[in-house]
Formats: sequence, structure tokens, C-alpha cells
Amino acid sequence: MSETPRSIVILGGGTAGWMAANLIAHHLGLEASVTVVESPEIGIIGVGEGSTPQLKAFFDTLDIAEADWMPRCNATYKTGIGFRDWSEAPGFDAYFHPFPTDLDGFTAPAFFANAYARRHGADVWAHPDRFFLPTALAARRLAPIVPDHFPFQIGYGYHFDAHLVGAFLRDHAIGLGVRHLQHRIVDVAVADGNVSHLVAQNDITIPGDFFIDCSGFRSVIAQGALGAKFLPFAANLFNDAAVVMPTPRDPNGTNCQTISTAMQNGWVWDIPLTNRTGNGYVYASGYCSADEAETELRAHLGLLDSPVEARHLKMKVGRIAESWTGNCLALGLSQGFIEPLEATALHVVQATVEGFFRAWRDGGFTPRHRDAFNRAIAARYEGIRDYIVCHYRMNRRTDTAYWRDNATHDELSDSLKAIITCWFTGRDLEEEIARQDIAHYYAPASWHCLLAGYGQFPGRLSADAPAPPTDMAAIDDFITRCALNFPSHDAALEALR
Ligand SMILES: Cc1cc2nc3c(=O)[nH]c(=O)nc-3n(C[C@H](O)[C@H](O)[C@H](O)COP(=O)(O)OP(=O)(O)OC[C@H]3O[C@@H](n4cnc5c(N)ncnc54)[C@H](O)[C@@H]3O)c2cc1C
Repeated sequence: MSETPRSIVILGGGTAGWMAANLIAHHLGLEASVTVVESPEIGIIGVGEGSTPQLKAFFDTLDIAEADWMPRCNATYKTGIGFRDWSEAPGFDAYFHPFPTDLDGFTAPAFFANAYARRHGADVWAHPDRFFLPTALAARRLAPIVPDHFPFQIGYGYHFDAHLVGAFLRDHAIGLGVRHLQHRIVDVAVADGNVSHLVAQNDITIPGDFFIDCSGFRSVIAQGALGAKFLPFAANLFNDAAVVMPTPRDPNGTNCQTISTAMQNGWVWDIPLTNRTGNGYVYASGYCSADEAETELRAHLGLLDSPVEARHLKMKVGRIAESWTGNCLALGLSQGFIEPLEATALHVVQATVEGFFRAWRDGGFTPRHRDAFNRAIAARYEGIRDYIVCHYRMNRRTDTAYWRDNATHDELSDSLKAIITCWFTGRDLEEEIARQDIAHYYAPASWHCLLAGYGQFPGRLSADAPAPPTDMAAIDDFITRCALNFPSHDAALEALR
């Protein structure tokens, strides 16, 4: 394999493939030729319509303005995720997981102090929702667009139509000089652990120096030809299927949050686009059949007698042991998938491509840099996985075996065990997160929101427990006055057109 690949072949034209093509063409310019080969008859998975703030960084890197892509992709703004019905604890039936903002420094310390005191029995306000501006923006359907006079940044993500984003990114990549081929790959030629070429129908060969496997759950090169080891997450992430149905957009205005509502055997997403709402029930097939899941979703959406068709999907949840093997990088669903609860898949795609470039720039194709890269990606998967597992482990529903089993199993990583132990033994959670150096996966605010949001407080309330001098009225006033600066979500979307 040459030290600087002149020819990079990407197998797959889903969101992962086109994101990779754009980033590589952007970073390498004329240094390398980039080819995307995809099979229209196989198509793309076509779900994955919510993001983290990382997607904003992706478009910023490519210098693509929101006005250029959002209207074309029916996209909306997202300030975080609302969790509903995950807990039966009185007062904790819903909470919001906000994206980070510069203002958190003013309010999060009070939340942490109150949650700490509440864990020690003080009768103080410890529900997360009054402490974060994005929560207020979501409740009021205000866009997280910072006005010129407002000196703080607000992190935000997006909702979008996956098919339209794919088409937009394809057109943009082709504009950057990426070659687009439409073939079904039927064989992968491998010699000494490296791919030499792909073989399409009619014996067409597609050679390359470096290959990126974005072939989705099929993982044609990485798991298929190179035999990459797949590590399933089924021991503590039970969901392995989804059923998806659209509903009309909310006539009362466009939400700027994803809503995750717990169901009998999983949860339903509600993702607002400008032209429709996307809904999908992510469930565990070991606990309910596809028909039962579809009926429960239809009942939830008020579509029991509706002719609207449901789409059923299987999910392969887990990751491959090493994302980069020989001259192949696995990316997207081919590389792994942690179920969609926190909408992290495209975030990992971008982190993988950027991390790969760093490793490559630093050390070329040396095993030392490749191994360090693989360790970092594996750690990222496990770090995100822990946070998602914690949602299920901390649920406070008792109605079905699914929720009871989720709340009682012991399949936790050492890191997550230490987080949970820290919380329930009343120690400082920020310190524990710093000790483990895991804040770059999920920050202390996210962990506090999750654990406090489900009403998981160990101690009984006691009149003698010391309480911090938090002035909740002042925090409410601060958040309310900050929120006055933001435009309505619908007005902000209209301004992009
Ligand atoms: C139920 C569900 C919900 C999700 N929700 C979210 C979310 O909210 N946020 C998020 O970030 N992610 C989410 N994801 C993940 C997200 O859908 C994917 O990460 C994203 O769409 C990228 O997929 P991909 O490009 O890896 O694969 P795909 O979209 O499946 O694309 C695979 C490509 O490979 C091609 N291909 C495959 N085999 C061959 C072959 N033999 N020859 C030629 N071409 C081939 C196909 O034609 C296609 O172009 C969700 C996933 C699921 C299953």
C-alpha cells in the first residue's frame, strides 16, 4: 500500500458515504481522487433524521450555510431531547436533555449543588428542567439562533430528511470533484490483508489505494471480505428493531426538540421536519413481535385505522473491534451502531473521519498510529454506549418485563458502575467524571440531567439535611430573560428560505 493514497474508493452512498466523500475531498483537494460507488437497487437505510451539535461543525467545516442546505432537506433546529414516561417517580415523568451552551456555567453549578444536596436528603429543587436555556427554548418553540447582541453561543443540532440530506451531500461532493459510480459490488479482492479492488456485476473492477466501507449493516468489505470481528451490545442494549411511520407536521408550530416517549417494550421518537413528523418505535424483538410493536405505535399516534404504511427495520447493534484494518476504514453502520436514543451515529461518522485524518497526517499508515486511532474510536463507542445503557438501567417503570429487566441486569462496564455508585453513595459526580476523563463523551450536565431527570435520589428527605443557597426564582428569571432574545422556531426557518 502506498503511503499517500492517490485513489480512495468509498463503497456506499448513504449519509456516511457522502459525508466521508465531502470531508475527504475538502481535506485532500487534488491530492487524491475520490470515488463513491453505490447500488441504487440496494438503496440506503433512509432513517437517521436527528443529530447532535457535531453536524453543525460538519457543515461549518465544509462552509455550507444553513440557508443552502436546511430548506432543501426540510430541516429544523434541535435544542435537545425530551424524555417522557421513562420514570414513574412522582414529578419526574418527563425531563429534557439539553445541548450545551455558554450559559451553562451560570446555572449548571446550582443544579449540581441542588442534586448533590437532594441526594443527601435536602428538600431542594433537583429536577433539571428549570436550569438550562435550551429546555426553555424547546418549551417555547424558539430557535437556538443567537442574535448579534447576545454574547453567548448555544450548541444545537438538527432534524432533517435523511434521503434529502444524502442527495444534497452527493451533489455537493460531485461539485468538489468526487466521482460517482452506480454498481452493485459482488466481490472484494483481498491480498495480504489489503483490498486491491472491488468487483461489480459484469466483471467491472474498481481499484483503489484506500477503501472506506460505508455499505451499511451489510459491511461488505470490513466484516464481509476482511472478516472484522463484530462485538454485539445485546447484553445491555436490548433493542434490535424499529417500526417507522410519518404523521403530518404539527399545525401549532414546529417543535425544536426530539421527543423520546417510553413505550411497553422500547421508545418512540418524534422528529419534527418542516413538512412532516417522523415517528419510529425502537423495540426489542425478544419482548414483542413486529405486529405488536406496530399496533402499539399506531395506537400511540392515533393511526389504528389509518392506511398509512409502516416500515419495519432490523438493527444490528454493536461495533467492530477495529474500524481501520489494512487499507480499509469502516464507517457508519458498517462500523457499528449504538441504538438511536441519543442520535449519535452521524456524530461518530464525523469523529471517525476527523480522527482518521489526524492519525494519518501524524503518522501515515504506521501501525502505531492506526492502533491508537482504533483504540480511540472503540473508547468513543463504549463511552457513548455507557450513557445510553444508563438511560435504560435508571428507568423507573415497572409495567413490563422489558423495563424491569433493563433496570435490574448487571451487565455494566466498570466505568458505568463507578458512575452509578458515585451517584448513589452521595459523592461528587463531576469529580468522578473528571477522574475517568469521560466528559468528552458526555459532560457532567448530561449525566446529572439523566440521573436526576428520572428522579433517582437515594436518600429520604430530611429537614436537617444541609441545602445550598440556590435562589430558584433568580434562575427562572435569568432563563426567562435570556429566552426573550430568541426568535420563534417557525420564523427562523422561514428566514432561511
Ligand atoms: C431505526 C434507526 C434510527 C436511526 N436514527 C438515527 C438518528 O436519529 N441519528 C443518527 O445520527 N443516526 C441514526 N441512525 C443511523 C443512521 O441511519 C445511519 O448512521 C446513517 O443513515 C448512515 O447510514 P450508512 O450510510 O452507514 O448506511 P446506508 O444508508 O444503509 O447506506 C449503505 C450504502 O451502501 C450501499 N451498498 C451496500 N451494499 C452494496 C453493494 N454490495 N454494492 C454497492 N453498494 C452497496 C447501499 O446502496 C447504500 O448506498 C438510525 C438508524 C436506525 C436503524
